[in-house]
Amino acid sequence: MDLEGLQQLQEIDIQRDQAKRELQAVLDQISDPPFIEQLEAEIEAQEEAARQADQGVREAHAIVQTAQRRIEVTDNRLYSGSITDHRTLEELQRDLYSQRQQLPPLAEAETRASYDAQMAHEAGAWLKQLRTDALDVWNARQSELQVERDGVQERVDEFSRQVEVLRDRLSQDDLATYDQYRRRRPQVVATVAGGVCAGCRLTLPTIVVTRARRGSRAVECPSCGCLLRVT
Ligand SMILES: [Zn+2]
Repeated sequence: MDLEGLQQLQEIDIQRDQAKRELQAVLDQISDPPFIEQLEAEIEAQEEAARQADQGVREAHAIVQTAQRRIEVTDNRLYSGSITDHRTLEELQRDLYSQRQQLPPLAEAETRASYDAQMAHEAGAWLKQLRTDALDVWNARQSELQVERDGVQERVDEFSRQVEVLRDRLSQDDLATYDQYRRRRPQVVATVAGGVCAGCRLTLPTIVVTRARRGSRAVECPSCGCLLRVT
């Protein structure tokens, strides 16, 4: 059994496994921005609020205009000279006074509505800016991840090429044994140095080392189950 060749293959296989895990970790991070849907909903809600606020401004403005027109009409009648009846004049004066009294709160309401609308539009603009900024950051990160992905993918491919070359040099029987072991654990072959198994750090019984050194057939470490290669 070509334990040295299998060990070389194992080293590359382990590195390839590691690179594949890195690749998966990068791929897991590549996606559409998860926050965008919620942000879009908030922007839409804010736009609706701004539309309603604008409508509120138009209504408040119309109310003020109507009140002003009424004052004008009353004022014109009062000073037109056509009304000479004392009582009617007094009534018109009272009307004018009360209409003028009503005007300031209506104008105030219009100012408040304008302010509310301005706030609603500013909040909407702020949310849109937030979306732009968040997307910029997200897209920059995604570009980095794609570069990272390409780099790791290249390493995986390179390891795969090396695996091909190494496997071509090994016998079918050795490869069958190796593949069978490797389905259970990443490490198949462990070096024995100074009577110690490198797979598990256990000091091996002398008889096991002797049998492994002979190398006529594969000997497993009694502790970790690796195929022992005495150097
Ligand atoms: Zn061991």
